[in-house]
Parts: sequence; C-alpha cells; structure tokens
Amino acid sequence: MLEKTGVATQKDLEKVMPSKERLKKGPVAVIECFQRIPCNPCYTSCKVGAIKELVEDINDIPELDEDKCIGCGLCVSKCPGLAIFIVDETYSKDEAKIMLPYEFLPLPEEGQIVDALNREGKVVGKARVLQVKNGKYEDKTPVISIAVPKRLSMEVRNIRLGD
Ligand code: SF4
Ligand code: SF4
Repeated sequence: MLEKTGVATQKDLEKVMPSKERLKKGPVAVIECFQRIPCNPCYTSCKVGAIKELVEDINDIPELDEDKCIGCGLCVSKCPGLAIFIVDETYSKDEAKIMLPYEFLPLPEEGQIVDALNREGKVVGKARVLQVKNGKYEDKTPVISIAVPKRLSMEVRNIRLGD
C-alpha cells in the first residue's frame, strides 16, 4: 500500500510507534520512514545518539532508541523525507503536542486554529498552533508545533490553514 498510495500501513506504523511506557515519560520521535533509501541526516543530526548508525548499509531503515531520545526535534527539520514527528502525550491533561515538518507557504501563526490532517490528508479535527520554527535561513525545513486532542496524537501528521 505504501508504494501505491504513499500512506503507511498499520503494520508499518506498529513497528515505529513508541511504547506506552515511553509515551508517558514525555516527547519522543516517531520515525515514519519505511523505504530503503540512501539517506542519514536523521542519524547525523541527533546529538544524543538515539538513532542507530547505519554502518552496514546507508539504505537501511533508521532505528530509534526510544530511551535515548529526548524529543528535541532536531531531526524533524533535517529529514528530507518529512518522515519524522515528535509526539508529547504529557503536554496537558487533554491535549498532546505534535511537532511536524511543514513546507507550505504561508506558514501558520502562533495561536492560529487550523485543520488537523491525518496521513491521508483527511481532516480529523482542529489543532492549535503553539510554535513556528522557520528554518528558512539555515537550509532547514520549518517545524510547526501544534496541540491536538490526545486521542489524535498518533493520527494527525499535517495541518491545513483555513481560508
Ligand atoms: S528528537 Fe532529538 S533526541 Fe530524538 S532522535 Fe530526534 S534528534 Fe535525536
Ligand atoms: S533522514 Fe528522514 S528520510 Fe532520511 S533515513 Fe532518516 S528518517 Fe528516512
């Protein structure tokens, strides 16, 4: 399905979902990169060694050590595949915070209410924009932090600005 639609299957996603125990401890990366490609900026951008070095073959799929990851988000802006998200289910009682890469213009504004989209681009709810980090001048992808209802933490992977 991934090859045909560009949308990961549930089986693929299960392999990269953080454990429930890890999610209770704070922000953590979710690396939704499922295709073998010669690429490693995720590994080189991580300052704490949470992404396993691809020593054998640069085409290997990245592997996260969820206990080492501190959810800093550096890898989100460096991934050319826009495949990395940070999920923080400890953000508040009812909301989760998600950091996602965003390459559209205009960028949203902090405080703006936007449509929350799932992996297929369908609207699944509303999101509140918490922070906009524009990496334009550093050759990095902008990273948007949003708050969504906690039940959507593993579903929302993009946003759409209203008209
Ligand atoms: S979020 Fe930070 S600590 Fe976690 S894998 Fe990415 S760069 Fe490393
Ligand atoms: S940088 Fe992104 S696309 Fe490249 S291997 Fe890492 S997760 Fe995959």
